[in-house]
Amino acid sequence: MATVIPRTVGESLFWSYANLAMAFTGDRHDKPKYQQIDYIVRNKLYYGLLRGTHQIATFLKDEMEKLDASDACCYCGSQSYLTLDHLIPQFKGGKHSADNLVVACRSCNSSKNALDLMEWMAKKKKFPPLRLLRRYLKLAIQYCVENGLMDVMLEPREGARPKLASLFDDLDKNSISERSEGASPAWPFAIGLIPHRFPDPVDLVARVPTADDCDI
Ligand SMILES: [Zn+2]
Repeated sequence: MATVIPRTVGESLFWSYANLAMAFTGDRHDKPKYQQIDYIVRNKLYYGLLRGTHQIATFLKDEMEKLDASDACCYCGSQSYLTLDHLIPQFKGGKHSADNLVVACRSCNSSKNALDLMEWMAKKKKFPPLRLLRRYLKLAIQYCVENGLMDVMLEPREGARPKLASLFDDLDKNSISERSEGASPAWPFAIGLIPHRFPDPVDLVARVPTADDCDI
């Protein structure tokens, strides 16, 4: 299947969410590259979300995992000086709700500061942990649905070269300094940093805490 180039905010979020499902599936089989079944999972979910035959999952799984891992920082695993961090900062419009709160050590909380998850990862030039990205995408989709923003047209991403570009081009090309001038304050999350391409499974292993129970 040809790579999808999302045209709207909703397509961007759904495409990322579907790729996330593919990444979770790909991580299960311990093969370095995605398999046919992984692409089928992604495509079925993406077009199902567009047609309304599939739905974004609730935060139940995210919250259960948060409880299970509440003794460690969700970003680095440290068990020292734990705090609560808003995945999407409150001053940007992130809610003070359980869905938006994660456990973070003081060091990560301080480093992340006023950035949201994707902005912070872009600054560190790292792909976000899958489970955090799952929560982040759910929050972003929830916000856009509630505020009628899913059909807003996206500005084309500069130099969209899906087959040639590196996995992290999206992050690199939308660095915070480059984005700050044109960023709309209306978005509480980093719409320009929503990942449309994901690392191969071989590069995801270290980023998925456990191999079990890792679906969308
Ligand atoms: Zn930490």
